Amino acid sequence: MKIYRFCYRKKIMTGVLKEDVLFPIKGSVFKDFKVEESAIPISQVKLLPPVLPSKIVCIGRNYREHAEELGNAVPEEPLIFLKPPSALIGPAQTIIYPDMSQRVDYEGELAVVIKKKVKNLKEEEAWTDYVLGYSCFNDVTARDLQFKDIQFTRAKSFDTFAPFGPCLVTDLSPEGLHLKTFLNGKLVQSGNTRNMIFSVPFLLRYVSRIMTLEPGDIIATGTPAGVGSMQPGDRVEIQIEGIGMLSNFVKKIDMRR
Ligand code: MG
Repeated sequence: MKIYRFCYRKKIMTGVLKEDVLFPIKGSVFKDFKVEESAIPISQVKLLPPVLPSKIVCIGRNYREHAEELGNAVPEEPLIFLKPPSALIGPAQTIIYPDMSQRVDYEGELAVVIKKKVKNLKEEEAWTDYVLGYSCFNDVTARDLQFKDIQFTRAKSFDTFAPFGPCLVTDLSPEGLHLKTFLNGKLVQSGNTRNMIFSVPFLLRYVSRIMTLEPGDIIATGTPAGVGSMQPGDRVEIQIEGIGMLSNFVKKIDMRR
């Protein structure tokens, strides 16, 4: 099932896609919902981030080749940092290139969306019960500031630095999915989720030992090799097999005016 959140006639709705047509749902995506019969063509809506998380947990260096390309050792346990929910944007929304940085990179990633509250998920518990679905995520990074600061916070947290979407796919296995990033139509990242150092179930259990995960929270599972910089005017697209494509433009705005 492909779940979209969107704005139609000034109303924010969630709906299920069937053959280019959205069927709004009644109820909560996290619990029980009913699919209504009224149909809205997807071409008539403005797509929004598929859910609104209370937090975005990101995993750094979860693909060997990416750790190596930035000169980092492969981690022995997951490297975790947070991005604020204020950084979130949806499909076709604009990534704003900040004045503070001279190098802004794309990082195409698989996003895992939490279905129900979870703390200390045990080995014997079915991890899939806690996952609502999967989506595409761009962990936009001011690389110069990441190298300059000890903390990742500034480099990862600018408004618009968390493009997410276009939809949530519920019936999908996170293993063995091809992930591609295109910059102005040119292939720049090509990876497969089977090459993650720490798998989705491992990450879910690990993160839940640190913090309570709430419905809608995102775990961004790290980026494969091939990261690189974007310039104002560029179009960046993250494509994951079975999910679709998340497309955003980059723009510079003079904030001093
Ligand atoms: Mg990343």
